Amino acid sequence: MKAERSEYRVVIVGAGVIGLYTAHHLARRGAGPILIVDRGFLSSGASGRNGGGVRQQWQTRATIRLARESVAAYRRFARDFGYNPWFRQSGYLFLAEDAAALERLGPVHELVRSEGLSSEWVDAAGVARHVPGIRPGAAVGGTYLGSDGTLYPFPVVWGLHDALRAAGVEILHGIEALGVERDGGRVRALQTSRGRIATPTVVNAAGGWSREFSERCGLAVANRATRHEILATEPLKPFLDPMVVRASDGLYFSQTMRGEIVGGLSPLADPTGSIAMSSSAGFLGRMARALVDLLPGLASVGVLRAWSGLYDDTPDGLPIVGEDPALSGFVHANGFGGHGMMLAPSSTERVARLVLGERIDLDPAEFGPGRFASTGSGRPTEALQLG
Ligand SMILES: Cc1cc2nc3c(=O)[nH]c(=O)nc-3n(C[C@H](O)[C@H](O)[C@H](O)COP(=O)(O)OP(=O)(O)OC[C@H]3O[C@@H](n4cnc5c(N)ncnc54)[C@H](O)[C@@H]3O)c2cc1C
Repeated sequence: MKAERSEYRVVIVGAGVIGLYTAHHLARRGAGPILIVDRGFLSSGASGRNGGGVRQQWQTRATIRLARESVAAYRRFARDFGYNPWFRQSGYLFLAEDAAALERLGPVHELVRSEGLSSEWVDAAGVARHVPGIRPGAAVGGTYLGSDGTLYPFPVVWGLHDALRAAGVEILHGIEALGVERDGGRVRALQTSRGRIATPTVVNAAGGWSREFSERCGLAVANRATRHEILATEPLKPFLDPMVVRASDGLYFSQTMRGEIVGGLSPLADPTGSIAMSSSAGFLGRMARALVDLLPGLASVGVLRAWSGLYDDTPDGLPIVGEDPALSGFVHANGFGGHGMMLAPSSTERVARLVLGERIDLDPAEFGPGRFASTGSGRPTEALQLG
């Protein structure tokens, strides 16, 4: 397929949740024509490979606010888009395995409460009420926020995709973005595997490949892609409401409406740096041991599927939202790590406003692409890179 026009107001690279939601906010504001190009198929990136966790417990105020807005958007999603992502606000439990881990959760709990959210401290008995079957002694306590939850990512992608098509946004798959054509320090066109597309604005929403695309455009960025594996067990009788997250090893899991336990844990350092989206027996073993250690009753449960996807990580754990300081018209909407699903609705609204030349309420020192050039002392970091 070829683009219908030779020129667009905005071209977005990447038809994952970030690119699609950005286009949605632009289209709602009447900005057009808009084109989204993607070299893969719909949901081929992380947006079709994630755990669907949506939480508002963060250690930076701006991220709590973004997540809170996203929760409101996902509550409305089925009504707004006609696809139901089954956003279930059944809570997120950060559990601490010892006193030191519990202490680290303290400031998060305080900050979340200061934002008006009803984060609760739970003791070991409280953890056991939220996680029936947990091994005695496996946790000393934790924090719980009942309005956090989980959703199915696919209906989000489909709902956005169909709404955009209906609004006249072009979405082309099988087209690779190869670079940009510049006019001085400005974007003039996107170069693609199907030729040149004139535009003053290119949005880099290429997820785990955002660094590759930025480099193709001659831009130095701090993003780094990492491969994360995840699995789903056979369905079990419903017993678990919240998403459970353990800080020590990044173990996270929830039970879906079908009864499957879906989750993963922080990957081991990979000296090859491979971002091939493959699954490994090593992950299956580590994940099984971690889960069964916490919930011994799962010892004989079968694994149905395992897969992997890319996190687009940044050094400070915060996404990158902003125009590149070295190239006008090149807007970053990337670096979402393991949290792009939950931050998409709100953060992309800021991306759209930036594209339209409006002021936004995100501090460039916290979210801008230029922040990594400074020494960074005193800059916020988001260390709660879990679940
Ligand atoms: C295992 C796993 C679990 C996760 N769990 C959660 C979770 O519980 N909650 C949460 O909020 N987030 C989670 N995430 C993170 C979340 O999935 C991502 O942050 C989010 O999907 C990123 O969306 P995106 O649109 O930026 O990227 P993607 O969905 O990856 O889309 C990027 C698109 O860009 C396209 N592309 C790349 N390069 C080019 C190019 N040069 N030309 C054309 N197209 C290109 C790709 O084909 C791809 O379709 C998880 C991720 C993984 C991998």
